[in-house]
Amino acid sequence: VITLGTPERSVVTTCAYCGVGCSFKAEMKGNMVVRMVPYKDGKANEGHSCVKGRFAWGYATHKDRITKPMIREKITDPWREVSWNEALTRAASEFKRIQARYGRNSIGGITSSRCTNEETFLVQKLVRAGFGNNNVDTCARVCHSPTGYGLKATLGTSAGTQDFASVAEADVIVVIGANPTDGHPVFASRMKRRLREGARLIVIDPRRIDLVRSPHVEADYHLPLKPGTNVAMINAIAHVIVTEGLINEDYVRERCDLDDFEVWARFIADERHSPEAVEDLTGVPAADVRGAARLYGKAQNSAIYYGLGVTEHSQGSTMVMGMANLAMATGNIGRQGVGVNPLRGQNNVQGSCDMGSFPHEFSGYRHVSDDATRQMFETFWGVALDNEPGLRIPNMLDEAVSGSFKGLYIQGEDIAQSDPDTQHVTAGLMAMECVVIQDIFLNETAKYAHVFLPGSSFLEKDGTFTNAERRINRVRKVMPPLSGMADWEVTIAFAKALGFEMSYEHPGQIMEEIARLTPSFAGVSYEKLEKLGSIQWPCNDAAPFGTPTMHVDRFVRGKGKFMITEFVPTEERTGPRFPLILTTGRILTQYNVGAQTRRTANSLWHEEDVLEIHPFDAENRGIMEGDLVALESRSGDIALRARISERMQPGVVYTTFHHAKTGANVITTDYSDWATNCPEYKVTAVQVRKTNRP
Ligand code: SF4
Repeated sequence: VITLGTPERSVVTTCAYCGVGCSFKAEMKGNMVVRMVPYKDGKANEGHSCVKGRFAWGYATHKDRITKPMIREKITDPWREVSWNEALTRAASEFKRIQARYGRNSIGGITSSRCTNEETFLVQKLVRAGFGNNNVDTCARVCHSPTGYGLKATLGTSAGTQDFASVAEADVIVVIGANPTDGHPVFASRMKRRLREGARLIVIDPRRIDLVRSPHVEADYHLPLKPGTNVAMINAIAHVIVTEGLINEDYVRERCDLDDFEVWARFIADERHSPEAVEDLTGVPAADVRGAARLYGKAQNSAIYYGLGVTEHSQGSTMVMGMANLAMATGNIGRQGVGVNPLRGQNNVQGSCDMGSFPHEFSGYRHVSDDATRQMFETFWGVALDNEPGLRIPNMLDEAVSGSFKGLYIQGEDIAQSDPDTQHVTAGLMAMECVVIQDIFLNETAKYAHVFLPGSSFLEKDGTFTNAERRINRVRKVMPPLSGMADWEVTIAFAKALGFEMSYEHPGQIMEEIARLTPSFAGVSYEKLEKLGSIQWPCNDAAPFGTPTMHVDRFVRGKGKFMITEFVPTEERTGPRFPLILTTGRILTQYNVGAQTRRTANSLWHEEDVLEIHPFDAENRGIMEGDLVALESRSGDIALRARISERMQPGVVYTTFHHAKTGANVITTDYSDWATNCPEYKVTAVQVRKTNRP
């Protein structure tokens, strides 16, 4: 029973769940939050919210919170509570010992998309300047890294092209590999409002998501493609655009690199890309693909919104480039109502990428080998920096298993649950000599850790999050950190213990440094955020109030670049032993690995992950609704309850990954995107059978 008191004051802050970035008023009594009220002046949500942001904040004071630092010699030992000084000294001395013995590159760090921009910036600074290498990566590696690669290659910057409000001017909305009503509910409401006004809808998804048919909304086309055939599908749509004269020639001539365009147009016009040629491969009738392509190509304003069903594939980056090709070819970038827009999963995925969390890029997506940029950072930070890209998360784990990577600092990320091929992840963690976890709960990864530094929830700190529309929102401290230190202060203390001084009194000073070193943030400051409420980057002399729509007169890279998008089938194959394809997603009430939402009343609505299976596949296996089934892949097997659902197509099954006890990533593969190593979560060959084993 929760007893709510009468609020005495309120603080405006930002939801720490999805990439919509809704603003809330946290209503307080003393240091207790009594209610979260959607903030009507929040530009991302305009007074709306979903069941997560509104109600699922109680995890912040849950009894499972770890508020004291802890250490242990071996991962089989019990944890021992110690002072901050002892924990930080242990972590620092171990990291120094490891580097002295195994070399400078034997340690690294992982930033968190749940933490603030300022905290993320500090972790990557600590790794680059304090550890002396570029072994820093982010959990965006496993979700939207192909967005970064694909949009930068084609358009010139690694971000969505539009603000959310832009959807109100779209005539045709294409949703690819996303389930906005569950994953991004407040934006989905805006989208549905526009659909009710008459905008047309194309859904490209293996599963019949709610948007395909819900009250007052019905898709004109649902293209239920087989998982793993995205690139064949986008090429088929582009083939129709090119061969049926739907290219916007004036736009392409004026805005794009013509040589690249001509090479691409010849490639895509080849008959092997036609909807008829790939009909068996994608499983989608050619007539539907042609109809959808014509709808997209002939509309005044067509806008693409996409999610992890695009990126979490072995061709995730190729697919992102394919969507950008399509939008450029039809003139659908650079004004309201159009664009290519990633729906970011976590609250600060955009920000963690912007802040230089990838091993090859400084903040603002500038390569570490770029001498002028690197020298600027060296001058400001007063240390020499490495000009070679560092290790990505999967490479860190590979090198740990092979014996050359020995120490890892992880802020706010649970790689043992969220990353693919759990056995490989845990083997890598167990091979390390010092794993330092900074988190609010003892997560799955902490089972393999030697030092635990208590983290702070979004209610306990100041900072900023950047949402899916590049909007920088203020996060404001609502109550003191339960552990005594906010995450940004912990990183500073860890750096100091390592002998690398970082000196900031307030996160606003960290933002000043970010602005000074990052051209797209040059005009951002806490003062301006107070005045404007929020700012969409780029914000600089050219755009002092921010930039809702990007690439208006020219692309960030100059001319838009068409990229060749050859379809390459995934190496994960079905066969007699594993005849079905498993794909994954999430539901409205839960969030990612569930560490937060499972500790709230939201769990009443979703107590366990279930397996959705088509009636045909269920009947063939004698499976009834609610039966316990074994889900087996080449990597491992798990057990969960069956839900028989016509949302699924025959041959494809689906589950969520919100509960650690299910362990969906025990069975996912280690195939990944060719360009970024983003795991191929969305295609796993599996078998399903009834079982009695819990
Ligand atoms: Fe808004 Fe997303 Fe939070 Fe829901 S989870 S309140 S849509 S930011």
